Amino acid sequence: THEEIDLKRYIRNIPDFPKPGILFYDISTLLRDADAWQLAMGRVARQVAPWQPDILAAVESRGFLTAAPLADRLGCGLLMMRKPGKLPGETISHTYDLEYGSDTLQIQADAVKPGQRVVVMDDLLATGGTLAASVALLRKAGANVVGASLLVELTGLGGRNKLDVPVKSLLSYE
Ligand code: IMP
Repeated sequence: THEEIDLKRYIRNIPDFPKPGILFYDISTLLRDADAWQLAMGRVARQVAPWQPDILAAVESRGFLTAAPLADRLGCGLLMMRKPGKLPGETISHTYDLEYGSDTLQIQADAVKPGQRVVVMDDLLATGGTLAASVALLRKAGANVVGASLLVELTGLGGRNKLDVPVKSLLSYE
C-alpha cells in the first residue's frame, strides 16, 4: 500500500552535478513513479493545508512541479517566480548574492494582493539562499508569507536558519 512506500528510495544521488564535488539530489525518479509521486503530493498537501494559503508561489523550475498539483488539491491559486525576462507585463525583481556572483527572481507586479497568505514551494532546500530571496521578493509585493514547503531538505547546510517563516520538508538528509 501507499503507506509502505519509503519515498527516500525514489530520490537519486548524482555525484559531480552540476559541478565537480557537488552531490545532486535528483527528484526525477520520484516524479516518474506514479504511486510514489501520488503519495508524495498527498503528504505535501497535508503539510501545507494547515497554513491555509490563498496562493502558492512556485520557484522556477522544479517548484512548478509540486505547486501545480497542490494548488489543484487545496483549491488555491498559483504564481510563478521566474528568472529575469520570462514573465510578460510589469514585474518586481529581487537580486541576491550567490557564492560566486548573483541571481535574480521576478514575479508579475500584480501577482499578489496585499495581505494574501502565500506559501513558497520548491523542490529542495540547500543553503536557503533561494527561499530567503523568494520570501523577500514576495514581501516587496505585499504578501503575507505564511510558510515554505519542500520535498527535500539538506539539513547540514542550515538553510532554514536563514528564513523567518515556518519551513516544512517531506524528506531530510544530513
Ligand atoms: P539553495 O538556494 O542553496 O537553498 O538551493 C536551493 C535551490 O537550488 C533550489 O531551487 C533547488 O532546486 C536547487 N538545488 C540545489 N541543490 C540541489 C540538489 O541537490 N538537487 C536539486 N536541486 C538543487
